[in-house]
Amino acid sequence: HDAKQQHDSFRRFDGTTAPDSNDRLTLLGDLRRGLTDAGQFTLHYQPKIRLCDGTLAGVEALARWNHPDRGPVPPGQFVPVLETTSLIHPFTERVLDLALRQARDWLEAGHRVPVAVNVSTRSLLDATFPGRLAALLKSTGVPGELLCIEITEYTVMSDPTTTIDALRSIRALGVKTSIDDFGTGYSSLSYLKLLPVDELKIDRSFVTDMVDDNSSRALVASAVDLAHNLGLTVVAEGVEDVFTAQALIGLGCDTAQGYHFARPTPAADLDARFLQPEPVV
Ligand code: C2E
Ligand code: MG
Ligand code: MG
Ligand code: MG
Repeated sequence: HDAKQQHDSFRRFDGTTAPDSNDRLTLLGDLRRGLTDAGQFTLHYQPKIRLCDGTLAGVEALARWNHPDRGPVPPGQFVPVLETTSLIHPFTERVLDLALRQARDWLEAGHRVPVAVNVSTRSLLDATFPGRLAALLKSTGVPGELLCIEITEYTVMSDPTTTIDALRSIRALGVKTSIDDFGTGYSSLSYLKLLPVDELKIDRSFVTDMVDDNSSRALVASAVDLAHNLGLTVVAEGVEDVFTAQALIGLGCDTAQGYHFARPTPAADLDARFLQPEPVV
């Protein structure tokens, strides 16, 4: 995510207009303590829906921080702060562990639910990341193909060579890879060809107004074709109404995510709606 978004996130946290270093330090202290607590960080899950038949293709895990005094803090307000320090590593580890435990619980209940996890630049580019991931897969017993790692174009641009190496190591574990927020990062098409990825997620900003805005629609159509020509699955994020869903079906988009289908929810809510046991008769 861009610098402006990062700046806005500091501003929104304390309600003032500038990122105050005292607030940042308080926030970092709270994050450090929060990470030693087993319950402050949780995951919500948002369904990825197959547009051909409305079935569940998988879920995206989205971090939630329940601050002891301030209440719920959205990830846009604390992930960029974590990313400025090495605290991002235990955070990424926590998120992966929670997501893999959930995938294993679903497996034990008879459901193969692929889970996608967002991994920030600093964590992905850390040389120990693939090894940590391998260890977590082993300790949770989840097959690699039930995990997908979402990275952004920003990560690719910041260090293409290391990103490509990391993605190769991740895929060697059977884990899927995805480019999130596609279209926002000016990543060159020549890199896309070289990237070991399985999926492309079209950024919400293009999807949101594709029904009313011809240029957004053209961009979504191009991204769908580009993904398919490269042999990738394509996901549209931020689908908020049936008209957008229909337009995406018209363009041949594979999968969609958004409030129209479901908001991110705790795993238990998802179970009730999407993972009912098959009817016996
Ligand atoms: P993202 O990975 O692009 O996730 C999609 C965001 O869009 C989520 O916001 C989701 O709640 C929201 N969203 C989904 N459908 C709709 C819709 O129809 N309309 C609108 N307006 N929004 C929709 P959330 O949960 O606040 O997460 C924001 C960002 O924070 C994520 O963007 C991701 O970049 C980051 N993030 C979340 N969890 C993690 C994490 O565990 N690790 C890292 N590194 N980043 C995370
Ligand atoms: Mg994502
Ligand atoms: Mg996204
Ligand atoms: Mg996004």
